[in-house]
Amino acid sequence: MSDERSYREINEAVWIIIKRLGGLYRSRCYVCHKHCDTGKGFVIHHIEYVSGEKTYSDFKTKEDKKDRLNYYLYLEPLVRKNKYRFKFLCNKCHFSTEVLKRYKTDKFKRLIKLVRMSKK
Ligand SMILES: [Zn+2]
Repeated sequence: MSDERSYREINEAVWIIIKRLGGLYRSRCYVCHKHCDTGKGFVIHHIEYVSGEKTYSDFKTKEDKKDRLNYYLYLEPLVRKNKYRFKFLCNKCHFSTEVLKRYKTDKFKRLIKLVRMSKK
């Protein structure tokens, strides 16, 4: 389906879905409250996965690239079914979340302590 579309067209189709879903979250990033105008630069972040549910890595194009459009087409009804399993995030906050998730309990506590004690 998406094979004949250009990279730009695919991104625009994805942004339309993201913008539509953003409406469920007041069209703003959960963390920084940045407003979402077009869907570009925003993602839907899973708080928890349900057993058997597909993940982003399950969606690949024929060229073995990540298939964002089919992933978001799959995701949209799941988000609409229960928006509380997800958060709406800007890319910057999503990236930060994914980095911080790599730190486990003690390291995470020390990292947060360091951030709080550090001056600009
Ligand atoms: Zn943000």
